[in-house]
Amino acid sequence: VATDVAAPRRILLAAPRGYCAGVDRAVIAVEKALEQYGAPVYVRKQIVHNVHVVGELEKQGAIFVDEVDEVPRGSHIVFSAHGVSPAVVQGAADRELAAIDATCPLVTKVHREAVRFAKQDYRILLIGHAGHEEVEGTMGHAPERTILIGTPEEADTVEVPEADSLIWLSQTTLSVDETMETVRRLRSRFPHLQDPPSDDICYATQNRQVAIKKVAPDADLVIVVGSANSSNSVRLVEVALEYGAKAAYRVDYASEIKQEWLDGVATVGVTSGASVPEVLVEQVLADLADAGFADVEVVKTAEEDLLFSLPKELRTDRSGNQ
Ligand code: SF4
Repeated sequence: VATDVAAPRRILLAAPRGYCAGVDRAVIAVEKALEQYGAPVYVRKQIVHNVHVVGELEKQGAIFVDEVDEVPRGSHIVFSAHGVSPAVVQGAADRELAAIDATCPLVTKVHREAVRFAKQDYRILLIGHAGHEEVEGTMGHAPERTILIGTPEEADTVEVPEADSLIWLSQTTLSVDETMETVRRLRSRFPHLQDPPSDDICYATQNRQVAIKKVAPDADLVIVVGSANSSNSVRLVEVALEYGAKAAYRVDYASEIKQEWLDGVATVGVTSGASVPEVLVEQVLADLADAGFADVEVVKTAEEDLLFSLPKELRTDRSGNQ
């Protein structure tokens, strides 16, 4: 009599996952710029937060720098998907750099909100992570009027001039639940706090979180493909754990999956951050298949068909359609 029958091993593959419209556009922008102007093309910061993508673009002749003053005068420079402050744009102009702005349009939307509400004398409570490039870019659009709130706990202690009109805005790649908790705490102290005109946490971040929330309760293990500095990827690990995954890890490459993570595991959830090319997920699925997880069930919670046109400097069609 068989007493030790192993549970069938399966994968729940979250959808949507991987590339969002803003990342797709930014990566193509660098490739097009290389094609159009020849190597090298300089890129300020990582074009998107993924080590594989950055490595591949480096092979094609992109040079990644931290600041515009590292770039030879007169060169081409691409601003990353995370956006830049007006000071960075000015710095590039001062060095006579030909700038190609690959800021995601959904980040630009937040920049515009910051400028508009600052002009109307609002105090902006920006929910986001200190030091993240997107946050630096957004704060740079209204530096005098913005206060950064990093965590729900900070909402309990932040000091705000009493008479100010208040609005909250946010980084695009946060946890929806944690952000709502921060807002709840802020509003309990500042009842006149206004909501942004529309969601700042972008559709891609939200959709990937919704999908992993559906997968997590059934998963003994969740593997999130994404880089350590990718905010939305790191959030996916947290959300998976909050929603019942017994364990969750982030990996850049399939080779980082440890054998012991799979011990006693019947169901593995797999997803990837918005800056992750599908080829990296395919490698994870291949390695998991070798480990006996051949049965793949797609758990789909949304359709995505958003596409952004290229930055205007690179558009070849004359219509200039957005
Ligand atoms: Fe744009 Fe969202 Fe993608 Fe960031 S994660 S590049 S905000 S679509």
